[in-house]
Amino acid sequence: MDQFDREHLWHPYSALGGPVPVLKVARADGVLLQLDDGTQLIDGMASWWCAVHGYNHPVLNQAVIDQLGRMSHVMFGGLTHEPAIALGKALLEIVPAGLEAIFYADSGSVSVEVALKMAVQYQAARGRPGKNNIATTRSGYHGDTWNAMSVCDPVTGMHGLFGSALPVRCFVPAPRTAFDGPWDPADTAALEQLFAERGDELAAFIIEPVVQGAGGMRFYHPQYLRELRRLCDVHEVLLICDEIATGFGRSGRLFACEHAGISPDILCIGKALTGGYMTLAATLCTRAVADGIASGEPGVFMHGPTFMANPLACAVAAASIRLLLAQDWQGTVAMIERGLHEGLAPARALPQVAEVRVLGAIGVIELKAPLRLERIQQRMLEAGIWIRPFGRLVYVMPPYVIEPAQLQQLCDGMVALVASLQEEDMRA
Ligand code: PMP
Repeated sequence: MDQFDREHLWHPYSALGGPVPVLKVARADGVLLQLDDGTQLIDGMASWWCAVHGYNHPVLNQAVIDQLGRMSHVMFGGLTHEPAIALGKALLEIVPAGLEAIFYADSGSVSVEVALKMAVQYQAARGRPGKNNIATTRSGYHGDTWNAMSVCDPVTGMHGLFGSALPVRCFVPAPRTAFDGPWDPADTAALEQLFAERGDELAAFIIEPVVQGAGGMRFYHPQYLRELRRLCDVHEVLLICDEIATGFGRSGRLFACEHAGISPDILCIGKALTGGYMTLAATLCTRAVADGIASGEPGVFMHGPTFMANPLACAVAAASIRLLLAQDWQGTVAMIERGLHEGLAPARALPQVAEVRVLGAIGVIELKAPLRLERIQQRMLEAGIWIRPFGRLVYVMPPYVIEPAQLQQLCDGMVALVASLQEEDMRA
């Protein structure tokens, strides 16, 4: 373990210096992470949903190199460039219908901030300044910045600590009907009630379509989204879909909204947008939203990050989309889905396990009790896999380039790890 890292570098959701030792990665190729002691691990995380094509991909490397020779960055205020335009064109061909205006942001959380600001500014421009709050479901996760935190689950999310300092949002219970379960119309009763009682206070409703990620790795029924779309229309509330985790094929559709056949008014994307090469996100909206904002005071949208539309990031994102669309990604994701179904099935019989669920290239083992990460790292290394469980969730979303034998090893490793869990490995 690196002493400097331990003493000076913060890692996500960690205290300085621990308690879980961080592993030093020397390089990454395809689906393999190589640690500096030579250990190779099969990556089950795709660097938190991002690296769909795997690491060190020749096509994506070349896209960065080509762009680097031209310019790595110029400001986007008053200037434009080919990578931004090419990426924009590529996006408009694949995103759900009706989304026409693109705002490039620098991270997923920022794209959520931008989406929330768009919604509030749109409503104000339309002469409805009282429609300025945001609604969402419980068990959601939308990022770590201030307003993004305010729409994460206020109790089970990671931001409960900040509760009293955050804007107070409207929450409905998380969707209950499972993705492939029989649709229960009672599932949207709370939504109906919220819109009836508070619809005129709401600028927007934000939701992760079909897959609730960091808020619980839950897969819910697409009918919920259809009902939500209908209610948003009736009450003139903008629908924001956060596809930062689900975008680019992860759930088996290019975008998870497609499971429901709906389009949002505002869409957030990020993570796999650049194939995991660098940070870039985008907030897309309909022409009606963009025109609405332009028609009010001050006639411009009030956001403009320094690194907006970074050319290197846009170039690699365009290359990543081309690479994805040039292959049978549906076949690949379906194959991973089958591999996860079969590979994780033995976990169902384990006493430690509450549920096993799979959707697209996402596999989840939900435990009955939360585990202690520091207790399992060594077992993970011995199994030759890289996973990052949190709470009661042991889950994977591997790079699409994972081979069947690697997927088998990943699943076997997860199941063995869960089977090995004893009382002292769990949190009280
Ligand atoms: N929304 C969702 C659904 C996410 O999964 C994440 C990242 N975990 C974010 C927003 C925030 O993105 P970022 O970490 O890039 O700020």
